[in-house]
Formats: sequence, C-alpha cells, structure tokens
Amino acid sequence: MSQGIAILGSTGSIGRNALRVISGLGAGYHVVGLTAHSSVELLAEQTRRYRPQFVAVTDCDYAERFRELLDGWETEILVGPESLTALVESDAVDTVLTAVVGAAGLPSALAAARSGKRLAIANKEPLAIAGELLTRIARDHGSTLLPVDSEHSAVFQAMQSGRASEVRKILLTGSGGPFRGATRRDLEDVTVEEALDHPTWQMGPKITIDSATLMNKALEVIEARWLFDVSVDKIEVLIHPESIVHSLVEFVDGSVIAQLGEPDMCLPIQYALTYPRRVAGISKPLRLEEIGRLHFERPEPETFRALTLAYDVARMGGTSPVVFNAANETAVENFLAGQISFVQIMELVEHCLDKHDVRPTACLDDVLEADAWAREEVKGRLGQEV
Ligand code: NAD
Ligand code: MG
Repeated sequence: MSQGIAILGSTGSIGRNALRVISGLGAGYHVVGLTAHSSVELLAEQTRRYRPQFVAVTDCDYAERFRELLDGWETEILVGPESLTALVESDAVDTVLTAVVGAAGLPSALAAARSGKRLAIANKEPLAIAGELLTRIARDHGSTLLPVDSEHSAVFQAMQSGRASEVRKILLTGSGGPFRGATRRDLEDVTVEEALDHPTWQMGPKITIDSATLMNKALEVIEARWLFDVSVDKIEVLIHPESIVHSLVEFVDGSVIAQLGEPDMCLPIQYALTYPRRVAGISKPLRLEEIGRLHFERPEPETFRALTLAYDVARMGGTSPVVFNAANETAVENFLAGQISFVQIMELVEHCLDKHDVRPTACLDDVLEADAWAREEVKGRLGQEV
C-alpha cells in the first residue's frame, strides 16, 4: 500500500528536498498534503505538480492570493495556523514530515503524535522546547518519531548497533559554522551576509544563523536528549568542519559507531520515510579518497555561549528551553532584519533566561505562555511594540 505523506513547510529547504526524495522513491509513496506560510507562488506550483488532496496556507494574509493562483483547481485549501493540525489529522495521512521552522510547528507535531501517525521530524524546535510532552504523547498513542536532522538520523542509525543501556555517550558533530575559530571580539561586527554564508550546508535563513551562533547545535543537544531518552551529561559536541561524519555513538565496550555521508539532507529525509528499509536514492555517493582528511576539534564555549546555555536549560527543564528558543527566534528575526548585531542575539537570550521564573510544562498552554513571554521580553528590551 502506498504511504500518504503530508509535508508541513513544503516550500522550505527541507520541504523542497523532501519532494525531490519522494519523486525519486516512485511508487509506494504519494503526497497527500503540502503547506506554506507565505510562499504561495511556489506552493501553487508544487500543488499542480504533486496533486495533493490538501494544501494549507498558514499566514491568512496570503490565502486570497493563493486561491487566485489555484483558481479552478480541485484541491482542498485550508487557511490559518490551525490548518496544519486539521491536515495532519486526516485519515489520508500516514506520515507527517514536519519541516516548518520554529516553535510554530509544535501544535501540529503534537496533533500528529496524538493521532498515532508516523512523524518524521526535521523541525527541531518542538522537540527542544516540549520534548517531554511530545515524546510522552507519541508513546501513549503509538506514534513513531523518526529523526530527519542529519546528526540525529546518524545517531538513530548508530544506535542500531547496540542496546540503549549499552550507550556510553552520544557525540553530535557540527561544522562549527562560518565563524569557527573566531573570538568573541571577532563576532562583534559580522554582517548578515557573513552569517548566512555557511561553509557546508544549504539551509533556510533561521537555521543558518543558528549554525553561526551554534544555537543550532544547542537545540540539537536538547533534541537528542528527548529523542534518545538520555541525560544531557551523556551528550557531547564535536566540531567537524567537513560535515561528513554526521554523528557517533560510543558504546560501553569502547566501540564508536558513526554514520557518514555527503552533506545532503536528502539521505536523512529518505531514511525517515523508508525506515526500516533502505532503498537506492538520489544522494551522491561518498568518496572518502576524494575528501582525503577529516578533522575534529572541541567547540569553544567562551565564544559560543549557546552551547553552555543548552546544557543549563536542559538540566533545568520546564519552561526554560521554551524561553531559550523563543528569545532566540525573536532575536534572529531582528538580526536578519538588520535591527541588532550578531552578538546581541545571545545577549538577548541570556537576558530572558536570567529574568524568567522557570515553571513546569504540563500541557501545550504552559509552553505557549512561556514562549509568548520571551518574545515580548525581547521586543520590550529592544523598545519595539509588543
Ligand atoms: P525554511 O525557512 O527554508 O522553510 C521553512 C518552511 O516553513 C517554509 O515552507 C515556510 O513556508 C514554513 N513556515 C515558516 N513560518 C511558518 C509558520 N509560522 N507556520 C507554519 N509554517 C511556516 O527552513 P528549513 O531550513 O527548511 O528548516 C525547517 C526546519 O528543519 C527547521 O526547524 C530547521 O531547524 C530544521 N532543519 C533544517 C535543515 C536544513 O538543511 N535546512 C537541517 C536540519 C534541520
Ligand atoms: Mg543538524
């Protein structure tokens, strides 16, 4: 039987790659739902090509334009932020690939888990901010969570070499971003263009900035903590500029198992869709003899504060990762808009964490409340309207 796939955030970097992967897979997989926030031209093109049963536009201001673009086309159009939840709950959807950016993907990820769907997770923020809630709901409703993030896909694959109780540590690799080797001082006058110039990965703007501050790796540490149910004390970060070794697992006997591949998201996307099977795909084969050397080094915690903060907030739990993430999302938007400097991103995150009274997150509302508080705190601090 063919697997019906809904791609939340189909117009983004992961979403576009996922459509290429699905085209390459051929029979056995079909697109049931596609969504975009505001890129309605591309969404209309994708709709004509992949003929999904449902399409959703989450930013209501773009709905009219989208309807015009699809005039006469027979696809059910859903509108507004809640449309993602309605879409994933449809019986036609077997697998949800969540590839929206930011905490905005949380309600639909929870809905997918609650309806027992297979959930391929690229959108790391929901796991980082509400990992306990999301993994509990998935467990209770028989939903399988499959990582798409390349590091977590690598860990997931390496984990198949032993038992969870035999894991000594997880080593998450990261390229180090465009400012690897920089001092805190060097970071003071970097421009948006420099921060967007990632050495090895082609990604959306928010994650590219997060890769430059190492916030991306910080969120990935917390993501790994929940996906693999390990204490953060067992997770280490290793800087690996070539982005070939996607992560490693060290077992108690000293064996270290790694997964390698070209820096190309098509491979982890495909594995999340075909797991537990492996099939031939569109990714370029790895030729280690052409790469020659691989390098590894420790990250620099003084320059890249995000990593140190990640361990603190993961240990603290409750609303602290929510604030950590929401403050960062708002600060990154401001940086991309040219409103603040690169170093101010982490200063604003630290400011919010200092001011926040941590509370437990028993339900979605607790998460949303802390998220809104942090966004307002950043805006207030920058003298913007809240
Ligand atoms: P992107 O900015 O290229 O695309 C984001 C997608 O989400 C778009 O389709 C956009 O229309 C949609 N979107 C934006 N705001 C939204 C909102 N408020 N509500 C609903 N939809 C919204 O981002 P990306 O690089 O594809 O990353 C997507 C997610 O995957 C992020 O969480 C990122 O951390 C994660 N990820 C990306 C990569 C990568 O290589 N790009 C790798 C690993 C993990
Ligand atoms: Mg990653």
